[in-house]
Parts: sequence; structure tokens; C-alpha cells
Amino acid sequence: MPGFVDRSPPGQCIFCRIVAGEIPAEKVHEDALTIAFMDLGQVNPGHVLVATRRHAATLFDITPEEAAAVAQSALQVAKAARAAFDAPGLTLLQANGREGDQTVFHFHLHVLPRHAQDGVALSWPRKDPPPEVLREFAAALRARLASAGD
Ligand SMILES: [Zn+2]
Repeated sequence: MPGFVDRSPPGQCIFCRIVAGEIPAEKVHEDALTIAFMDLGQVNPGHVLVATRRHAATLFDITPEEAAAVAQSALQVAKAARAAFDAPGLTLLQANGREGDQTVFHFHLHVLPRHAQDGVALSWPRKDPPPEVLREFAAALRARLASAGD
């Protein structure tokens, strides 16, 4: 998220150091493939990051097993955060690449409890293309999905 950029030297990824216990973090959940800990920024109370234990930079670097484990951990943390902080809403946010607003290049998913007028503003500029353009986009994706081995 904006406001923090991991400037760790190569090999000293800040999340790998948290996994290794080299730097402190307020952990809330761990399993064989994931670790969940409090985001230092706390956009809202209960803001947690679910990261892979293994270093993987982005979504495109994690395994299907890790993806499933992250989803299950996020679900557990989301239920706990909703209950603990009486949050009527919750946003899951996962960023990949600089263009995707990723700032720490170790895969992680934000679990963010939400409240009315909490100051969070997700910019979502709708383009509303005509149906024929939407059809072309879908065809391009279906072709890739049909030929994908992974
Ligand atoms: Zn790492």
C-alpha cells in the first residue's frame, strides 16, 4: 500500500525475516504454508497481512496449494476480525507488481475490517466498454485458459 516501500537488500526480505523470527511481528495465525500478522500501518483496527511462509514475490510465484492455504487463513482471520472489531464490512486486497501497487515483494493478502466513513477510498475507474469489446476480452481469456497447463 502507498506510504511504505520495502527497501530491504536482496536476501533480507522483511517478510522472510518475520517468518524466520529475526524481527518481531504481532502474529495472529500460522500454519504449514502461511503466516498472518498485524500490519504496522493499521488502516483500521484488526488490519492483518496473510503471507506465504516461503518467499514468493507475487501471485504468479505461489503454488496452487499456497493459494488455497492463503484463502483459508484469510477466511479464518476475516471471521475473527469481524467479530473482534465489530466490523460491518471487510475488504481483501492483494497487490502484484509495482503497477499493481505492490510495495513489499513477498506475496501477501490484506485482510481489512471496514466501517462506514472509515476514510478508505478504493479508486475504481469504470470503463464500461461496449458489448463487442467485452466479448473480445472474454474470448482472449478463454483461449488462454483453454491452452494453459497451469
Ligand atoms: Zn520474502
